[in-house]
Amino acid sequence: MMNKFLLAVTGLLLLASAQMGCGAEKTDPNLARDIMAELVAVNTAPSGGSNTSEAVALLVRRLKAAGFEDSEVASLGQTDALQNLVVRYPSENPERQPLLLMAHLDVVEALPKDWTYEPFAMTEDDGWYYGRGTNDNKAGAAILIATLIRLRNEGFKPDRDLIVMLTADEETTGNATKWLLKEHRDLIDAEFALNTDGGPILLIDGKPLALMLQTSEKIYVSFTLEATDPGGHSSRPHRDSAISRLSRALVDLEAFEFPIDLNETTRTFFERWVSIAPEDETLIRAVLSNEQDPDALLDEHYYNAIARTTCVATQLHGGHAENALPQTARAVVNCRYLPQSDVATVRNQLRKIAAEYDVSVTDIDPSVPSPPSPLSPHIVGPITEIAQSMWEDIDVIPEMSTGATDGAFVRNAGIPVYAVAAIADDPNDMRAHGQDERIGVKAFHDSNEYWYRLIKAFSTPATHTR
Ligand SMILES: [Zn+2]
Repeated sequence: MMNKFLLAVTGLLLLASAQMGCGAEKTDPNLARDIMAELVAVNTAPSGGSNTSEAVALLVRRLKAAGFEDSEVASLGQTDALQNLVVRYPSENPERQPLLLMAHLDVVEALPKDWTYEPFAMTEDDGWYYGRGTNDNKAGAAILIATLIRLRNEGFKPDRDLIVMLTADEETTGNATKWLLKEHRDLIDAEFALNTDGGPILLIDGKPLALMLQTSEKIYVSFTLEATDPGGHSSRPHRDSAISRLSRALVDLEAFEFPIDLNETTRTFFERWVSIAPEDETLIRAVLSNEQDPDALLDEHYYNAIARTTCVATQLHGGHAENALPQTARAVVNCRYLPQSDVATVRNQLRKIAAEYDVSVTDIDPSVPSPPSPLSPHIVGPITEIAQSMWEDIDVIPEMSTGATDGAFVRNAGIPVYAVAAIADDPNDMRAHGQDERIGVKAFHDSNEYWYRLIKAFSTPATHTR
């Protein structure tokens, strides 16, 4: 298996250099960086009006200047501000379903007073590019656009359409992706998707140890827990007030644990993670054994979140006056359930706990089920082989995100998604969403090269592997 892939990749590299040799226009090696700098300089956070139209417009100008036709570039959205970009690099002779490539253009808010660097300008300093979105996810957007331009300059002929989709509101509602899937499915339909928004390389003590391959995400759902009471004067209290009953329900909820339940991705994750964290081997083996539910797992919040559905109270409201018995008390409970589970199981469990105290449980918004994408060899193979050709001895470890991205909606629509940003970063100093967000200069350029090779591998006839 390994050797076959190696041969396929080697063949591809030869083919790539042959194609580059034939009078192809040379692409500026700093193109991706320059595009990222332009994107970072456009404030696509809420303080910029959550507006992605300017970012889309500058990318459209870049693409047109590189020879992309009007028919290949679509700027579209539900509002003038929330614009998405969909670019199609067509195959003259498509032999396979298209490949979808994903990133998002919006960013989390950044307040200049909290930052050492200007957040909405890219600054290079001491081996890092600083600026909001350098890591999440304007690097990915820039790399995808730069790669399409590079491929076009080289006259590359894919055997399937390549589609780049850059979305407008991943950090908030994800409505843009849902809308594209619902209203413009024909523009983005694909056999599977590669997402730049997830799947880092874990850089530990300066060594790239593992490429995380995100194939799955936990599913987000929130519930309102509510206790009601006739109320009255607080000078003549009765037992079991609305606040007391709600509180007891929340205490019981915290003491409850959903059972450990592994899927293909999380089982493989734990099996391979032992070599990254040998100090946790005993605990990980216990989780894998399916026989016990070790107490120690509860103190390992990351492992625990991977191994089971979790629910936690996140907001609390109750009472209407300092001197009155509360007529209502309400809590928001946010759950992240496993993709192999379902919302009814979670809701029923909460109701069982809450019913003891006459507390009701209602869903706040419907959740979007997102099945784990299968670890298919014809997809995981090239991802692994190209990584191993670039980073010696690197492991590829499938992971299930405990958070959620646009990938969840795409999986829900039946398109498997693999997030594999391949950006090397120290897991103990990840700054996405935080202050002084940054990406390593080398990490960025390596990721750019990885994506170039990856996209070619998945659209070159010589690498058909089944
Ligand atoms: Zn992101």
